[in-house]
Amino acid sequence: MADHAPQSTDSTLDTTPTLRLTEMFYSLQGETRTVGLPTVFVRLTGCPLRCVYCDTEYAFSGGEIFTLDHIAAKVAEWQPRYVTVTGGEPLAQPNCLPLLIRLCDAGYEVSLETGGAMPLAGVDPRVVTVLDLKTPASGEMSRNDYANIPLLKPHDQVKFVICDRADYEWMRFKLEEYQLATRVAEVLLSPSHGQLSGRELAEWILEDNLPVRMQLQLHKILWNDEPGH
Ligand code: SF4
Repeated sequence: MADHAPQSTDSTLDTTPTLRLTEMFYSLQGETRTVGLPTVFVRLTGCPLRCVYCDTEYAFSGGEIFTLDHIAAKVAEWQPRYVTVTGGEPLAQPNCLPLLIRLCDAGYEVSLETGGAMPLAGVDPRVVTVLDLKTPASGEMSRNDYANIPLLKPHDQVKFVICDRADYEWMRFKLEEYQLATRVAEVLLSPSHGQLSGRELAEWILEDNLPVRMQLQLHKILWNDEPGH
């Protein structure tokens, strides 16, 4: 748990809704449509997937339990415009849904980063969902829940982490199959760190004139992927 996170609250004393968190921090958004904008991150603990390139393995277990009241109060201290709920897999904890509602009610622009294996039903429609579709080389493609695609809203975003050319071709197929470029606000392609160069991916995108946005992870460039950024 990052040392700038809120103090733990004993959840055994009452039935107040709680969540297990790995960290909360204020940083620049490293990806998505709001890249570069100051954002509060709420990182929930736990994930049912094990993608080969995962860069948040430290969020698989551990963490500390906090009440939703405590989380909301801590977020408010930063006075953010943008709040991102991430993981791990945030939707693996059912109380993620009331947290999202609460953050939206507080007036923040809230985004949710989800790995695509958990149902999106119940996510507050004000939330911008960033749905990560798992490619063949992620090792978790079979976990994609395609029932989520019709639930995507026009302001949502779909992300692919591309490890190799086969992933890229698979992504192109999915782009066409689900008409993703017109279904959501943005289709995001990230080269898998250490597996595919950004330059190579950029050249493929240009050759095919794809209606996508390529992104490099700003937080890795700035802070070398240290937790808390
Ligand atoms: S879904 Fe995200 S947090 Fe879970 S293993 Fe894959 S990359 Fe890591």
